[in-house]
Amino acid sequence: MEDRISRIIIVGGGSAGWLSAAVIAAEHRIDSQAQQPFELVLIESPDIPTIGVGEGTWPSMRATLQRIGLSETDFIRECDASFKQGTWFRDWHTGNGDTYSHPFTVPVDYADTNLAPHWLALTDAPQFADAVTPQTALFTDCLAPKQITTPEYAFAVNYGYHLDAGKFSELLRQHCTEQLGVKHIKANVSQINAAENGDIQSVTTDCAGDMAGDLFIDCTGTKSLLLGEHFKVPFQSQQAYLFNDTALAAQVPYAEEDQAIRSCTQSTAQTAGWIWDIGLSTRRGIGHVYSSAHISNDEATAQLLAYIKETAGDEAAASVTPREIRFQPGHRQEFWHRNCVAIGMSSGFIEPLEASALVMVELAAGMIAEQLPRTREIMDIVARRYNRKFERHWNQIIEFLKLHYVLSARDDSPYWRDNHTAESIPEKLSEQLLLWRYRSPWHQDAETVHDLFPTASYQYILYGMGFETVPRYTSSRQQGPQQRMASELFRKNAARANQLQQALPGNRELLNKVREFGFQKL
Ligand SMILES: Cc1cc2nc3c(=O)[nH]c(=O)nc-3n(C[C@H](O)[C@H](O)[C@H](O)COP(=O)(O)OP(=O)(O)OC[C@H]3O[C@@H](n4cnc5c(N)ncnc54)[C@H](O)[C@@H]3O)c2cc1C
Repeated sequence: MEDRISRIIIVGGGSAGWLSAAVIAAEHRIDSQAQQPFELVLIESPDIPTIGVGEGTWPSMRATLQRIGLSETDFIRECDASFKQGTWFRDWHTGNGDTYSHPFTVPVDYADTNLAPHWLALTDAPQFADAVTPQTALFTDCLAPKQITTPEYAFAVNYGYHLDAGKFSELLRQHCTEQLGVKHIKANVSQINAAENGDIQSVTTDCAGDMAGDLFIDCTGTKSLLLGEHFKVPFQSQQAYLFNDTALAAQVPYAEEDQAIRSCTQSTAQTAGWIWDIGLSTRRGIGHVYSSAHISNDEATAQLLAYIKETAGDEAAASVTPREIRFQPGHRQEFWHRNCVAIGMSSGFIEPLEASALVMVELAAGMIAEQLPRTREIMDIVARRYNRKFERHWNQIIEFLKLHYVLSARDDSPYWRDNHTAESIPEKLSEQLLLWRYRSPWHQDAETVHDLFPTASYQYILYGMGFETVPRYTSSRQQGPQQRMASELFRKNAARANQLQQALPGNRELLNKVREFGFQKL
């Protein structure tokens, strides 16, 4: 095969570059001497730092780590990782101390029973998430999702991680180069060289000469050196829908060595954005993401420091120097163009409200690994499919994130009022909200089996934020068998929450044990 894909070049060594390298190399076992399907080279600048934020993952990361052959014990030890069971939102609905949760576990009996209409028909019900999953009770109590005897990657309740992004890239680099046969070159790419047919033929580096390749993966961060700068694939801003474009990130020490570590991300809404609060095993990562059109940097900094003062004390607030990160919310018009595919920040970025960036890297690398074109001719077919799929993912991210803002009843600042204007709401989201006034979202609302956010996630946000769906069951039918069955499920869920609260260790307690003894290997 003359145009066989025999060398893949990844440019960029942040989480996107190394995770992509690991997933592709592990899938094709390129370290195997018996069969060398292609060479995988990662070129990383020794001078340009990685973005180094990215502290929350989805549960999908467990499968990804397993797939690339990393031990969970090593991952937790090396990346200061902790367990994440979902997100706890504060002040998003009214701004007066309201709270609700988006847990990672789907509602009890989710495959067969839609509990939302039954919950809506109840009076004096607990919050929706509390009624349908035991998970929220666990993260309220800072409990872990498993025990030390639970094997690696297995769980009592579903979970992802909080991690140190810099340490994660370093661990992946080591694993890729030592176990998976990835070649690592430290050099700055200074030029992209085109072939006669318009593909990229090679990249010129400052200290390793020209590197030719058949497929180029652009992981150069917001620079988007190959797809954006070289191919000039247009960037599509999404700021008309999602206004946040600046983040202030800080690292805050724990006040006490044995301070409880929350097993969820906390997100506290502010007047022009929101503050994330993430507990790693060694420190907290706290940051303010906001719209620079609605608040000055000084005011945003003051809000962040006030939050740190309130939750970590005066000394902590006085010791931090927040790092400012500016970004344009949006994504490229297409992600795979000719023989170049962009993954990570180079393909786009939208604020981290549901920590959807690393999962997109996992999905992108997974699809490339699985559908890796054997020849240049096949690449165009794969590229078209890839672009269709990822456009759908981006649209869903935009709609799902916007849902959090649209449902808010806050009108205490121009930011919240602007978030409610009709032109700031994607058309599809407006349609969905109209539909959901008359029936709860359920399985048929999912457009594909690969939707990024399951219907359960929509239910958690809608009913956590007080959305009203006209109840499907009238009072006479409430006595019916369906309602009795739902009541039994609510009761079972409460009993299971109680049981898990007794059985599971604290998040910090388990992390300490993992550091000392490790999990059982699978
Ligand atoms: C405020 C904030 C919060 C976030 N929170 C989350 C979160 O909670 N969860 C989540 O999933 N994601 C989050 N993200 C996103 C996440 O950090 C990124 O998606 C992830 O780290 C991947 O980044 P990257 O590898 O694409 O880019 P980068 O980390 O920027 O890496 C770019 C790489 O390209 C290299 N490079 C650039 N130019 C050249 C050149 N000329 N030659 C050679 N190499 C070059 C650099 O050296 C670097 O290695 C957050 C992002 C921000 C801004």
